[in-house]
Amino acid sequence: MKRLLLVWMAVYLLASPAWAAQYADQLIVIDCGEGHADDKSLWSPGENVGQPFDMANNCYLVRHEKGWLLWDTGLPDTVADQPGGLRVEAIRTTWRRKQKLVNALSMLGLKPADIDLIALSHLHPDHIGNVALFPQATVLIQTAEYNNPIPLIGLPFLPNQSIKKIDGDYDVFGDGSVQILSTPGHTQGHQSLLVRLRNTGTVILSGDAVHSEESWIRQWVPAKNVSVEITRSSREKIARILLTEQGQLWINHDVPQSAGQRKAPDFYE
Ligand SMILES: [Zn+2]
Repeated sequence: MKRLLLVWMAVYLLASPAWAAQYADQLIVIDCGEGHADDKSLWSPGENVGQPFDMANNCYLVRHEKGWLLWDTGLPDTVADQPGGLRVEAIRTTWRRKQKLVNALSMLGLKPADIDLIALSHLHPDHIGNVALFPQATVLIQTAEYNNPIPLIGLPFLPNQSIKKIDGDYDVFGDGSVQILSTPGHTQGHQSLLVRLRNTGTVILSGDAVHSEESWIRQWVPAKNVSVEITRSSREKIARILLTEQGQLWINHDVPQSAGQRKAPDFYE
């Protein structure tokens, strides 16, 4: 009987990754800029024509016993030196940056050289601005994204950058605590990040799988996404995991949600 119980427990542990998974030590939210768009309908086709749309833009730092992972690198630090901000006419948006990423890291007692891994949700300019600050870091990116950058912008990597191309989901530290989730639709190889924390629980960092809580509820799909169907199925995947793990979805560009979050040097654990 005792042996049967042990076998049952072993099967349960193996079959239930949430139970077996370890935790990341900290998740730190870094303000990496903000956007002011002139026409919200670009993110909600057929609705909100001519209405303004404000976006937060965060980077996230994950502390794990095996190293530091930076999720997205935000707008270029040089945008902080441009008083009028950076205008991107294609999405009728002006981006600004109050603080530089390098200064935010220094507030945490970190130098760019301390970052071991960078993972990019996708290759749009508001998410890849400072990759060149981290020549020593290995970049985790979906193969489909690497192969499909925005034509005039291209890849942000340095010539000798170490790049790990991923096809699908990926367990970053091998213990289930931090997992890349393949969530295409906004771009060909878009990805999101699941982080398990001891006290906060499971958090999924959206990337641009969705741009606001309103968009999540209304199921708006931006006109520039590569596929409406694939976007929706990626969101269903996120929703399933959130439900299973009672997790939280942190939507990068959502202003009210971001305003309510503790920022660096504070942290979640
Ligand atoms: Zn974005």
